[in-house]
Amino acid sequence: MDILIKNVTLAGPGSEKSDADTIGIDRGRIAYVGKYEGKIRENGADKVIDGRNMIAMPGLANCHTHCAMTLFRNYANDLALEEWLFTKIFPVEQKLTYDDVYWGTMLGIAEMIKSGTTSFADMYLIMDAVAQAVSETGIRANLSVSPLRFETGNEMKVIDESDICVRYHRDWHNSSDGKIKVYLEVHSAYLFNEQQLKDAAMLAKQLNTGIQIHILETVTERRESIERYGMSSAEICHKCGIFDVPTIAAHCVHLSETDMEIFREKGVSIAHNPTSNLKLGSGIANVKELLDRNINVVIGTDGAASNNNLNMFEEMHIAALIHKGNLMDPRVMDAHTVLNMATASGYRALGFDDAGSIKEGMKADIILVNTDSVHMWPLNDPAAALVYSVQGSDVDTVIVEGKILMENRELKTIDEEKVKFEAKRCAERLLEGM
Ligand SMILES: [Zn+2]
Repeated sequence: MDILIKNVTLAGPGSEKSDADTIGIDRGRIAYVGKYEGKIRENGADKVIDGRNMIAMPGLANCHTHCAMTLFRNYANDLALEEWLFTKIFPVEQKLTYDDVYWGTMLGIAEMIKSGTTSFADMYLIMDAVAQAVSETGIRANLSVSPLRFETGNEMKVIDESDICVRYHRDWHNSSDGKIKVYLEVHSAYLFNEQQLKDAAMLAKQLNTGIQIHILETVTERRESIERYGMSSAEICHKCGIFDVPTIAAHCVHLSETDMEIFREKGVSIAHNPTSNLKLGSGIANVKELLDRNINVVIGTDGAASNNNLNMFEEMHIAALIHKGNLMDPRVMDAHTVLNMATASGYRALGFDDAGSIKEGMKADIILVNTDSVHMWPLNDPAAALVYSVQGSDVDTVIVEGKILMENRELKTIDEEKVKFEAKRCAERLLEGM
């Protein structure tokens, strides 16, 4: 046994009917979940963690982000999506180098690990820099790479980079001991045209992989899609074959009955990003309706330029609250549902089916949350505490595939001060004169 966690309280998927207080981890997988007394022997473990006053839960899956946008944290606030994206974000992104994306991603990964995220979906530029950061830090990720590059200036130039996708997929898919998966990025049906959507779907099928996409984030997108295609973004994507491969569709705020039926039928996972949708004034997705249709709804923070953090505990908290208030029904989005969306369902969306719950045989992606604080005391109901009382900074220990990435809040694979220094240097250069 590599790691033995004892005296711990379990919560989240895999813990439902268990009186277990001990987790054993061996060769990257959960080898034992049960009572401390019994077959498990402390002296057989390389490392023993005392989980007293800790909750052990599956690590969080952040199913939609643009990690390196941490560099643009708190830049360009209080603007509508279209103005924010086209006049603020795209121009500054034209200046990005490999170095910028690497350090921005390192900063985002540091923030995610420190708030309990063990896997994430990323959609960005210069994705080799992202994969380098992911593999160096040991976190799990589904990285998407775009077959088209959009150069914005006086007029938009579109450059075909499908050859880069093929090379990137060959280099990084299933790398980092299987912790990296490569999907295609199809930014949206407003940046891609019909032929480009068809080509992207075809390329994903050739590579036998999935797609990350933004769909129906705003009412403007819905209106313009109907003007341009005669149908919604979800319908045109469906027509072009996008959903024939595993898909993570971000936002999905403005859906019709037909759109929801398409997502249900095609098994599309929907990444709900409540904070970003609130901050950009986009609206509130009808998550209850999606869950009632058995659609796999998961949670994401979106990028740090529209949130403005990557804290999944905060995202769970907001996801749990807004639907109760919006629907005037406190029974919707109960704590167990929200925890499940942020862990097991999220892992499934990212294509990592053998992790995301605390069960024997699953990959050991586990976090320990400290409950020995006044705002978590007395614990009473661990699941409720994790959704309604917790702070991201309560995360004490983070384990990904049996490897400790943080212990006692100290990052083990990231030099935190160096990352802060380098990210600030990159951000200052990028935002100068903007
Ligand atoms: Zn996004």
